[in-house]
Parts: sequence; C-alpha cells; structure tokens
Amino acid sequence: PAVPTVTLNNGIEMPQLGFGVWQVPDDEAEQAVATALDAGYRSIDTAAIYGNEKGTGRALAASGLPREELFVTTKLWNSDHGADLAPAAVEASLDRLGLDYVDLYLIHWPQPSLDAYTETWRALEKIAADGRARAIGVSNFQPAHLRRVLAEGSVVPAVNQIELHPNFPQAELRALHAEHGIATEAWSPLGQGKGLLDSPVIGAVAARHGRTPAQVVLRWHLRLGNVVIPKSVTPSRIRENLDVFGFELTDADLAELANLDNGTRLGPDPDTFGQA
Ligand code: NAD
Repeated sequence: PAVPTVTLNNGIEMPQLGFGVWQVPDDEAEQAVATALDAGYRSIDTAAIYGNEKGTGRALAASGLPREELFVTTKLWNSDHGADLAPAAVEASLDRLGLDYVDLYLIHWPQPSLDAYTETWRALEKIAADGRARAIGVSNFQPAHLRRVLAEGSVVPAVNQIELHPNFPQAELRALHAEHGIATEAWSPLGQGKGLLDSPVIGAVAARHGRTPAQVVLRWHLRLGNVVIPKSVTPSRIRENLDVFGFELTDADLAELANLDNGTRLGPDPDTFGQA
C-alpha cells in the first residue's frame, strides 16, 4: 500500500515514512537511495554534515521520478547559523543535491549558547519565501527553543525532527507540537537498531503479529502520528521497513511498549551540543 502523508501546517504533504542516510558514505548513498526509491520510498532525509548530498542527488536524478513525487529534506549545519551564512548554506546544499528547491529545510541543532537560532530561523523564512524550500522546520529543538521561535518568528516551524523511539518517547515535546501544529519527526526511530530491537517486549509483540521487531517499532511511531525516517543500507531491511502498512497494533501492545520508556537518549543533549 502507498505511504500515507501528513499535512504540514503550510498545507504541504509529507510522506509519513521516509529514508534516512546518516552515516552512509557519499559513494554508497547513491546505491542505498536508489534501492529505497525502487522499493517505493519517496522521502529522503539527508543533511549537509552527512557528506552525502551529492550521492543522494545522483540517485534522485537517475531514478527518473518526477520532482513533484519526491520529498527531499536537508539541514543547515551548526557552522552556518546566522543571517549571513544561512542563504549560502542552502544554495550549497541545493547545488550538491542538483535541485532547485528542497521540500523541507531544517536547522539541524539549536546551539543555544550561540544564541543565533532565532536569527537563523528568520533566514529560513526568507529561504522559504524565495522558493528554495517548500517547508521549513527545526531539529533537536527543546520546548524553550521552540517557544522562542514561536514568539520571535513569523512562520511556525512545520516540523521538529527529534530523537524519538520507545526508550525515549518525548511526551512533552509531542504535546507541545500538537498544540502548535508542528509535525513530530522521529530520528533514530529504531533506536539505531542496537538494544531496542532485541527487547523481549518488542519480540513478543512482533511474534503475535508475525512481524519483525523493526516493523513493530515503526508501526508504533505511525500510531503516535510521528513521521519516521529509518535508515538501512541492506536492501531486504530497506524493503522490510517500508512494509508496515498491513497491520495494526492493539491497545494491549501499546501498553506493553509504553513500559520501554527509560528516559535515555542515544544522541547528544540539544541544550549543550555544538556550542560555539
Ligand atoms: P535508525 O533508528 O534508523 O537505525 C538504523 C540502524 O538500525 C541501521 O544502521 C541498522 O543497524 C538497524 N536496522 C535498520 N533496519 C533494520 C531492520 N529492519 N532490522 C534490524 N535492524 C535494522 O537510526 P539512525 O540512522 O540514527 O536514524 C535514522 C535517520 O534519522 C538518520 O539516517 C538520519 O536521516 C536521521 N537522524 C537525524 C538526526 C538529527 O540530529 N536530526 C540525528 C540522527 C539521525
């Protein structure tokens, strides 16, 4: 079945399940993205810092898919904050991707001690107005950072892409997003594969449905309303991660999965990461 979309707060439709390419070297990204597009993914999540926008762009071009069927996200890196650097950063990303516009452009990290993210947000508003991004959003923004952008910006972020998986379900941010019409996008949705997918709780749910642990975790995200961008370079797993639309978790499954919340991040703390 086709991947459902979520309607962002500016009316743009974003596939609810996409393909992430963090830690995929540029020379492997072309093949991985080509495999994903062939499997039926239409949304690709990259970033300037991943160093694979060129390989990603080559796969997009080689696919022959019409641009309007693709949804491409990239992100402004920490060294490009501020009104002076942000416009060149998006142009450089577009150049590497071989695109005239991205579908979603995100501020990768807030870097609060730099105190530039609201100025950078204003620059993204201009980037969107100039037609270089169909939607703009943020990543790794904590409630305090979002509240400042809401107070000082004129566009509400379409998305906040945050670490989110059953061990770290981010209830507070999800509630704040819902209040302001911001879509929640989950990074490391599979908990990076280690540990989480070996959980006996997830294994038991998976066995009941005749599904894999990764499929159960992705189904959990979809049920919460999250956008997800699982990563794999293994063709069978790339296909497996997209094949999650033929079953539903029960309320009992969800109650068991809720017990996996241990408040533990895998990634950095956004309040301190990437300081100047
Ligand atoms: P993930 O949770 O998607 O896990 C990926 C890993 O899980 C794979 O490398 C593989 O080891 C394993 N895996 C994948 N599919 C599997 C399957 N079906 N069965 C068993 N194991 C499987 O982790 P991720 O790559 O960290 O996150 C996904 C994407 O999120 C990234 O590629 C990137 O696009 C994005 N991301 C964004 C940020 C940010 O700061 N905004 C940070 C990290 C990741």
